[in-house]
Formats: sequence, C-alpha cells, structure tokens
Amino acid sequence: MKKIALIGCTGSIGKQTAQIVRQYPNEFCFSALACGHDTAGLKKLEEEFHPKRTYCEAEGKGDISCLFEDCDVALIAAGGFAGLRYTLAAIRAGKQIALANKESLVCGGELVLREAKKHGVEIVPVDSEHSAIFQALSMRRDTAYSRLVLTASGGPFLHFTEKELARVTAKDALRHPTWSMGAKITVDSATLLNKGYEVIEAKWLYGAEFSQIEAVVHPESIVHSLVYFEDGAALAQMGYPDMRLPIQLALTYPKRLACCEFLDLAKIGTLHFERLPKEKFPCFTLAIRAGEAGGTCPAVLNGAGEEAVYAFLGGCISFPKIAETIEDALAHITRSAAESYEAVAEADSLARACARKFIYGK
Ligand code: MG
Repeated sequence: MKKIALIGCTGSIGKQTAQIVRQYPNEFCFSALACGHDTAGLKKLEEEFHPKRTYCEAEGKGDISCLFEDCDVALIAAGGFAGLRYTLAAIRAGKQIALANKESLVCGGELVLREAKKHGVEIVPVDSEHSAIFQALSMRRDTAYSRLVLTASGGPFLHFTEKELARVTAKDALRHPTWSMGAKITVDSATLLNKGYEVIEAKWLYGAEFSQIEAVVHPESIVHSLVYFEDGAALAQMGYPDMRLPIQLALTYPKRLACCEFLDLAKIGTLHFERLPKEKFPCFTLAIRAGEAGGTCPAVLNGAGEEAVYAFLGGCISFPKIAETIEDALAHITRSAAESYEAVAEADSLARACARKFIYGK
C-alpha cells in the first residue's frame, strides 16, 4: 500500500488523483490531504479517505513538513508559486516527489534540483509532456538523448488574427480544445505561456540546453511529446489526452497499472503538426528569454504572469495585456541569484507588486 501526501487535493489534478485512489483501494491511500482554500472540498475528501493529517493553506499556521512524515510519495499539485514551499518541504523530508506543480521548477529549479540531490530524492514529472519524455527515456533520467520536442495543442486561439486576439474574453480562453484543466493553466495554454513554462521545466528535469528543446503545435493532443536520439530515432508517447495516466504513473513508477482506454489509431485517422506561431503569442518568447537569463527572472515571469492571468479572468485586462504585464515586470526587476527560497519569494512578490501597478495603476 503506497501512502500519498496530496497537496492541492481540491484542484483538477487532486480530484483526478482521488479517482485513481478510489479505483485502486488496495494499492493507494492518502496519509495527508492539503488544499489552498476550499475547506468544504477538503472536508468531503477527509470523510471519504480518512487521512492522518489535513491542512488548509488559507487557515493553516505553522509547520508544513509534518504533512510528509508518514507518506511514501508526495504528490505536489498545488497551483502556482505557492507549490514551491511544499515541494521543498517534501524533498527535505526525503520523500519521492510526483511533481504536478510546474512553478516549483520554473521559479525554483536550481534550488529544487540542488535539494533533491542533497536528500537523494527522485522527482517524477506529472505534467503530461514531461511524463511522455520520461517514458520515452525508458523512465531513466540519465538516458542519453539529442533533442526534446514538446507538443502543444496551440490552445483555442491558434489561428486567431492579432485583431481577434485583442477581443477574446476569459470565457473564450477557458474553452480548451482537448485538455480539461483548471482555469489558470487553461489561460496559460491559450497564451502559450504554459508551453514556455514547460520548456523551462524540461531544462531542469532533463538537464537540457534551451537550444535542445523545441515546441511544436499538435492540435489533437495524442502525441504527448518526443525525444530524439543521436542516430535520428524519435520516440514518442501517445494516448488520448487524459491526465490520469501521468498522475498514476508518477505514483506507481516504475510499475504500470491499467488506467486509460487504448488508442484507436484507425479511428483517429490523421494527426497534424505545425510550427509554433511565436510572433502571435509573445508570452512564449518572454518565457524562453526569462529562462535563458536564469536567476530570479523565471520567478518574475511567473509572478507577473499569475497576477496578469487572474486580472484577465476577472475581466480587468485584455488578452494581449497579459504579455505586456509580464514584459514590463521583466524590464523593471533586476535579476538576482535564485539560491534560496527567500530570494525566489522576494522576486515573486516584487513581480506581483510591479504587475499590479501596471494593471491597476497603483
Ligand atoms: Mg503540460
């Protein structure tokens, strides 16, 4: 029986994890459940799964490290920058990490990797693209490869003109063509900021140079990513878009358990691929630039991005203004080293203040 500490239990990944635990009651149980603010949702899960510990960030005080005391694997599915401190606490408790919070690596990649090495902790990705790469590398992070190709659905606005993009609303952005996810990440998919985050995530997970990572549009979301090897061979992982597979694999790794429907390739018929239209989606390029600059720049990118996306969801700013907000924060906040949690958190709060000033003028 594998004991899971699930951080972010009331979100999209959290709910799908609960489905997996329901399906395999002899394989998994929850030792701890934590949420951001949905206390009613947490209570429901607590009554069903009887974890030893529960925690609500909005109400919680004190030490979060006790959440990881009794677990075999920590599934970090909290949203946004808030996930980083849980990831670090779980690593310092010496637990295997199933990482669904990409911001942990985007903002604190250097720090997370250093701590994981120090504590002998393995990080297994839950993000579907990185899980695909992990599988294509035979689930061994030391497998030699030449290039990584991340697939992107392109989001709902792939073929919109700039004029059309200026008029899209939050409701339009939340209509993702293939994946069903939380609101924040769905908007990040529409701006392609999410794909930029994933390039940074791939850099840290697989030790790749930015020049080795490419993103390609694949509207059907069947090929979840590819790895190219020196001899020109390309290995991909395929499946219907369903997050339960990467979640479950991160929990059962290196074992596999029945999970999803098998692909019916003849029924799918045709798969399409095209170049990423970077010029129309400046968030992607901003993310790569911040990633290349390193230090606290990706934390600034993310902090400003979080503020901008919530302002867009609230109807306060237009879609193109998301990129403008991020660009402004990156231009105004000086890069520093990202060697401690405090340094990264400082960059995050400076970025948020800068973004709020840009958006609301105060
Ligand atoms: Mg992804």
